[in-house]
Amino acid sequence: MEHRVSLGVPSLGFELHGRLRRAGGWLRRHVKGIFMSIYENRNFIRIAFCAAMLAGISTASARETNPEAALEVRIKSALKTAYNNYRGLKEGKNADYIPALAKVPSDLFGIALVTPDGKVYTEGDVKQEFSIQSISKVFTMAEVFQESGEKAVADNIGVDATGDVFNSIVAVEQYKGQEINSLVNPGAIATASMVKGGSEAEKWAKIIGIENAFAGRELAVNQEVYKSESDTNQRNRAIAMLMDAYGRLRGEPLEATDLYTRQCSISVNAKDLAVMAATLANGGYNPVTRKQVIDQKHVKGVLAVMATAGLYDDSGKWLFASGLPAKSGVGGGLLAVAPGKFGIAAFSPRLDKAGNSIRAQRAIQEIVASLGANPYDIQPQLKSQMAGVADQE
Ligand code: GLN
Repeated sequence: MEHRVSLGVPSLGFELHGRLRRAGGWLRRHVKGIFMSIYENRNFIRIAFCAAMLAGISTASARETNPEAALEVRIKSALKTAYNNYRGLKEGKNADYIPALAKVPSDLFGIALVTPDGKVYTEGDVKQEFSIQSISKVFTMAEVFQESGEKAVADNIGVDATGDVFNSIVAVEQYKGQEINSLVNPGAIATASMVKGGSEAEKWAKIIGIENAFAGRELAVNQEVYKSESDTNQRNRAIAMLMDAYGRLRGEPLEATDLYTRQCSISVNAKDLAVMAATLANGGYNPVTRKQVIDQKHVKGVLAVMATAGLYDDSGKWLFASGLPAKSGVGGGLLAVAPGKFGIAAFSPRLDKAGNSIRAQRAIQEIVASLGANPYDIQPQLKSQMAGVADQE
């Protein structure tokens, strides 16, 4: 009598059945029972496998037929997760060297993301207005690039990171007001002075005009913040004087400081900042207003200065963590640009020692990682991605 049971051959069921018929009753009952349960289980496994395959295929094809919907779900969940992960974080404190900023409720927290096709995603306190502060410097620099060209800025003040704090006087002294950049106070005051206009009012109209164009709406100055900073900005006035002494200003130092102070006091919300960032992510074309706000050719220079100096002396740390050009302000705002993908911004007033919002940095870093938006995060390729370059000739 043979009772050899070998599983795994499809015809085995029949062969085994024939052999079992010849076996004794006890054996037949038991082996047959075991066989049947394996057989039934096999069917069950087969059914479960088919169901899983079908589910997989239908999810994949839903993704294929509606990749936009799948992306929306992913973006919304990334924003929500980051918001929930960091809303309880209490590290850092509001800027208080500008008295009005110390009064802003520290627990406010909002995140917004805008895509080049104008879709807006938000989470938390996104309607809450706050002062734009240093983030305004990006757009005044863009205005001067547009009016006078990048070379005018590069030659007069520079496009280099100082590695120093944003209001460093040493940085000015070291290279006589050059080899700095438009995103730290001395360079920003000089850049505001370079805006073309016969009077302070004309220059201001250009500055608020470019900030509005990027944000896609009419912004206003927060008068309380403007007064508070004007009353306490002796250091910036000293910086302006020093820059003037080195011949870097185009106009009166106190007038340049005033223009600069006013631009820093503009009120925005997190959504405005995300639209501004999305406009840079989209080659200077505002995806919400559908207007080209600066020539496309100027965007790469703006992003380069943001990448090296957007978070002052912590710009390297930021780039290391996110890979994205970004700009922060002591009002608690932070925007970042994922070129071609999206603009993102977050706002929360508590700052680290360099003057950058802690929650905003963490939230944006996490969202960028979860959406795979770090441009340096390259998958190995078998072919160069240069295809198409020849066609552009
Ligand atoms: N208005 C602020 C200042 O000049 C801006 C600084 C900042 O946001 N880092 O000090």
